[in-house]
Amino acid sequence: MMQVYGRRKHSSRLKHKRPAGPFAPARCKLPQMHLKIIGSAAGGAFPQWNCSCPNCRALREGTFSGKPRSQTQVAVSADGRAWFLLGASPDLRQQIEGTPELHPRDGLRQSPIAGVVLANADLDHVLGLLLLRELQPLQVYATASVRRILREDNSMFAMLQRIPNQVAWSDFRDGEAFPLLPQSNSLKNNATVHCRAWSLSDHYPTYVSSERRGQLAPDEASMGLILTSSTGSRAAYFPAVSRISDELLHELETCDLLLFDGTFWSDAELIRVQGAGQTATQMGHIPVKDTLETLAGLRRPRKIFLHINNTNPMLNQASAEHSRVREAGWEIAEDGWQFTL
Ligand SMILES: [Zn+2]
Repeated sequence: MMQVYGRRKHSSRLKHKRPAGPFAPARCKLPQMHLKIIGSAAGGAFPQWNCSCPNCRALREGTFSGKPRSQTQVAVSADGRAWFLLGASPDLRQQIEGTPELHPRDGLRQSPIAGVVLANADLDHVLGLLLLRELQPLQVYATASVRRILREDNSMFAMLQRIPNQVAWSDFRDGEAFPLLPQSNSLKNNATVHCRAWSLSDHYPTYVSSERRGQLAPDEASMGLILTSSTGSRAAYFPAVSRISDELLHELETCDLLLFDGTFWSDAELIRVQGAGQTATQMGHIPVKDTLETLAGLRRPRKIFLHINNTNPMLNQASAEHSRVREAGWEIAEDGWQFTL
């Protein structure tokens, strides 16, 4: 069973910790950006159904110093009413129920969820789309390559196209900024969050056939997303980063909030726990202990690790790894954290 934990307690603690700057409680009249982390774990969540690693075992036994987490899911809104999901996690149904802002408000069938931005075609990032199939109008933004994988190769996604105007797909490209707009909206509303994609990797999911891979653009496989509010505040969503270029470093320094790849602590973490498998680097993730060094000079953003695998020792609040992360000025995301930028 998956639950969403600690929503209010921790969001208020975080706000209290940093009351100044772009995170101050909303008093000004200008439009802003609301962002919620409603899931913070990597694929499989924490605990994972078939995992008995030291973390998962201790959590089940009630001896773990730390929280369970659902699979990574972020929601963003310009006005606190229409929300856009970054990805659609397999835990989405429970995550929606645990998030009052995402509950239906007006009429018998309605949802504050206006759309979804897909950063890649990984199952942990797109399976939740199938949970949103009840004829609800939605805007879905993706690269043309990700759209083709889902719509042309996976017939289940046709359930999102049963009636006209059910799901409207929009393509975006690397570097292109686009406004997040509900289907019924127009550009007149200036309380709009703009999204810009940053190509991170040419690695498509294993389930994509080699024939199809040959037809897809390499720079459309896995994207980071940079969100900008009408007032200019910026949040970066980078849950899968295989390398950090000088260009990317410069880009991240322009952001106020950074949600960054916290999948694995060390390169051989999964091999050590399972006895076999791939390194973090082979799976397209920089280990956290390397990121702490590479991004040590980053000054502007509030830095938060998310997309944390259940094997990562930093999940344990009593661990040396947890202390190292905190001493380096980073935070470790929990389900339910919210921000106003
Ligand atoms: Zn585990």
